[in-house]
Amino acid sequence: MKMNLTSPAVISQLMAEHQLHFNKQFGQNFLIDQNILEKIVNAGQIEAGDTVLEIGPGIGSMTSEMAERARRVITVEIDKKLIPVLNQTLEAFDNIEIVNQDFLKTDVTALVGEGPVSLKVLANLPYYITTPIIMKLLETSWPDGVELTRMTFLVQKEVGERICAEPGTKTYGALSVMVQYYADPAVMFTVPASVFMPRPKVDSVVISLQKRAQMPYIPSDKNQFFKVVKAAFQTRRKTLINSLSNNTAYSKTLLLDAMSEAGIDPKKRAEQIEGEAFCRLANLLHESAI
Ligand code: SAM
Repeated sequence: MKMNLTSPAVISQLMAEHQLHFNKQFGQNFLIDQNILEKIVNAGQIEAGDTVLEIGPGIGSMTSEMAERARRVITVEIDKKLIPVLNQTLEAFDNIEIVNQDFLKTDVTALVGEGPVSLKVLANLPYYITTPIIMKLLETSWPDGVELTRMTFLVQKEVGERICAEPGTKTYGALSVMVQYYADPAVMFTVPASVFMPRPKVDSVVISLQKRAQMPYIPSDKNQFFKVVKAAFQTRRKTLINSLSNNTAYSKTLLLDAMSEAGIDPKKRAEQIEGEAFCRLANLLHESAI
């Protein structure tokens, strides 16, 4: 019989059987609402031929739901104590690969293997490393034939809103620019803190990231572009010229010249600047530094 992995009683029993405690350090907050879990998996738009990559299966509640819909599921869990639990709860499936690794140290292209693969990512992310996990997935160069189109994440509400923020808003920042360079993000729906065990302090949101087939603009040097963006937002209350002259090695004269050429008012603040304008500016600064 299928185990109800979102039942608090079942979770407590499994944890007791395996002598486990929720590990705060690993951001373990498990979903305890089957309807919400199905809504999240639906948001992932999994198709029958897909390979799905999951980060942090916990006791496998989302994993089993995904395995019923996908061709293959690869799930990466850092906590070795959860592996025997997963072997038990996911025993009935022959299309799930459980990998006991730190996702940030995982060679993810090797895990997925050679194409053709239609890849989707779906995860209830551990909150302490949400940004590095998302950036790693966006920055991975996938081999030919591996098509990653959609990523769906459950994240802290505040982080989800920052990722999706538009220029001119208070939440718009370096993370918005960097993620939106690679993908088109959207907040799908809010998930209340009450549907997790243990209950976190804040609400969460489900976000989707649709990977862009083509980049919206071309930085001469992506790392330098990201550095300029981060420096601009480091002191976000200051004018752009003050932020950049305080937080980068470029001289004020050089910055003013480049801003003038890029058509950017130096008295504006970073939150008013679109990604493309940041890129124009970064490219001019890059050229002048050569
Ligand atoms: N998917 C489960 C659910 O929805 O109930 C659990 C989600 S819980 C928020 C996050 C999971 O990520 C935990 O199982 C935790 O052990 C795991 N985790 C934390 N850091 C990780 C890392 N660096 N690599 C892989 N898994 C990690």
